[in-house]
Amino acid sequence: MAYYVGVDLGATNVRAVVASEDGSTCGRGDDTTPSGPTGIAVTEAVLGVVREACTDANITPDSVSAAGIGAIGPLDLAAGAVENPANLPDTIDQIPLTGPVSVLLDTEQIFLHNDTNAGVIGERFFADRNPDDMVYLTISSGIGAGVCVDGSVLTGWDGNAGEIGHMTVDPQGRLTCGCGHDGHWEAYCSGNSIPQYAKRLHARNPIETAIPIDDPALSAADVFACAPDDEFAAYVLDQLAHWNAMGVANIVHAYAPLVIYVGGAVALNNPDAVLQPIRERMDEMVMSNIPEIKLTTLGDEVVVRGALASALTAGTGDRSQM
Ligand SMILES: [Zn+2]
Repeated sequence: MAYYVGVDLGATNVRAVVASEDGSTCGRGDDTTPSGPTGIAVTEAVLGVVREACTDANITPDSVSAAGIGAIGPLDLAAGAVENPANLPDTIDQIPLTGPVSVLLDTEQIFLHNDTNAGVIGERFFADRNPDDMVYLTISSGIGAGVCVDGSVLTGWDGNAGEIGHMTVDPQGRLTCGCGHDGHWEAYCSGNSIPQYAKRLHARNPIETAIPIDDPALSAADVFACAPDDEFAAYVLDQLAHWNAMGVANIVHAYAPLVIYVGGAVALNNPDAVLQPIRERMDEMVMSNIPEIKLTTLGDEVVVRGALASALTAGTGDRSQM
């Protein structure tokens, strides 16, 4: 029996699954992503969840035929590593992945993708509707997309195609992104940015609100929880929808997808509040065909299952490659 591994390395959690050749899961491992001291600690956590998933599946790591890894970016594909991740502490410079996982599993068949490319590979493989032109968009601690055009998943230089969260949407650059540059989509609408953005909006428009706006621990979830009964919270959501729709319209014009699957914690936890206002704005913002905008069918497993789909299909998500 051949076995395959999928790994999801996120800013918050790291997980792995083991599956047999028909794609049915037979083992899993989970851990929180270490915040340091260096990238090696994160590599160790990845190896730990892979071992755990193999133990759970009652197999030894060397019986795995291939593995896919969906990781936070940016990547250095030649080095098989994450380089200076935007959403982890600065002390983490490089997280080696392909080499150590290859040694553990004793196979050269390791396919490394950024997490959103793993997402679009997963949608392509598992979803009912999987046309050749599709996008997987994540709105989570960061914002990014995996793009499939004419049946090819776009990779780009060093694997960094689809870093659309770092498109400039605000030319005045009022907010600074986690990457250090100003005016990026992610600086307004990611889960990490929403609290700062809400505070900024409130400083300029200090109306009464149920949002605990002065709480240092203010979260994106607090903002969504207060809408729609709270006038200020509704105003924040309207501003988020403005930037989200701008970003999505840019994706539509660049790639012409038939469908955009949306995942990530911000979208998964608030699907109607996030997706519906984007759909409503498309008509007035898009000059070409307007795609379907749907919540991912794979929930918060989209990256790990996409990584698994990559392992099963030699890195493509195309079932004809099995
Ligand atoms: Zn940025």
